[in-house]
Amino acid sequence: MTRRIGFVGLGNMGGPMAANLVKAGHTVTGYDLSASALEAAAGHGVLIAASAAEAVAGAEVVITMLPSGRHVLESYRELTAAAPEGALFVDCSTIAVGDARIAADLARTAGHRALDAPVSGGVPGAEAGTLTFMVGAAEAEFAEAEPLLAVMGRRAVHCGGSGAGQAAKICNNMILGISMIAVSEAFVLGESLGLSHQALYDVASTASGQCWSLTTNCPVPGPVPASPANRDYRAGFAAALMAKDLGLAADAAEAGAVPAELGRRAAELYADFAERAGAGLDFSAIITTLREHA
Ligand code: NAD
Repeated sequence: MTRRIGFVGLGNMGGPMAANLVKAGHTVTGYDLSASALEAAAGHGVLIAASAAEAVAGAEVVITMLPSGRHVLESYRELTAAAPEGALFVDCSTIAVGDARIAADLARTAGHRALDAPVSGGVPGAEAGTLTFMVGAAEAEFAEAEPLLAVMGRRAVHCGGSGAGQAAKICNNMILGISMIAVSEAFVLGESLGLSHQALYDVASTASGQCWSLTTNCPVPGPVPASPANRDYRAGFAAALMAKDLGLAADAAEAGAVPAELGRRAAELYADFAERAGAGLDFSAIITTLREHA
């Protein structure tokens, strides 16, 4: 079934996600504050609206892919008033669990349905349509959104009610941030002990130290040729986004009185790295600061 979709936020992720929906035959009307994002989206067949309200005025489904909770809540105040009653609101941005629940309440109060559906897989996953969606929604809303999520991604996991998708996203990325620091520290320690990168990789990748941060996104050049370390840490998962996600996890831990000591330390290290020089580099470039400290 083809749907009328209003898509707000056509940046690095939203642009290719909207393009994949067009490719699958859906009618997508988009809006972004950036002229270059609009131009790129138009090139992929997205109909361009003059405002966010106009983009969703005739929409059955409203998808947002915005930088942060502040942007989502501000937009939802406008979008929930402009969309036809009963529209399905799907927020794919990574935002705090509390903000996701407020956004869903705003949509429901205006007579709509809502789900949080943050993603993992990065820009390559958005382009290839292979994202993983983590969804917080009632069963019926998840079922209705699933065919659209299947166009933009390979997998959609129903994690629970409102906010559960965001909860899963920040817990996963807390594991990822901590494990990248652990792998990086091990390489730096190995260097100081005269151990080659390849020797440590050959052992740890087939032993109990094995993890995604080592075997897919290895922070040193050589052992995994496709990892960003082999191209000066360019074009990967930006350290600034990791800092943002770890900040959301640390805030949630504090609010729930969960110690999460390593998660909070990882958030501090990434915030510091992103602020100093590494914001646009792949998050595995954290190894360069750990080496400086050594
Ligand atoms: P981006 O900055 O490239 O895109 C965001 C877009 O939103 C921009 O084009 C901006 O102009 C637009 N925007 C901001 N406020 C707006 C408004 N009020 N109305 C209309 N447009 C507005 O960011 P991105 O990389 O696409 O990330 C989007 C979300 O996806 C973030 O929450 C991020 O944490 C999450 N995410 C990103 C990645 C990644 O690898 N880039 C991976 C997973 C999740």
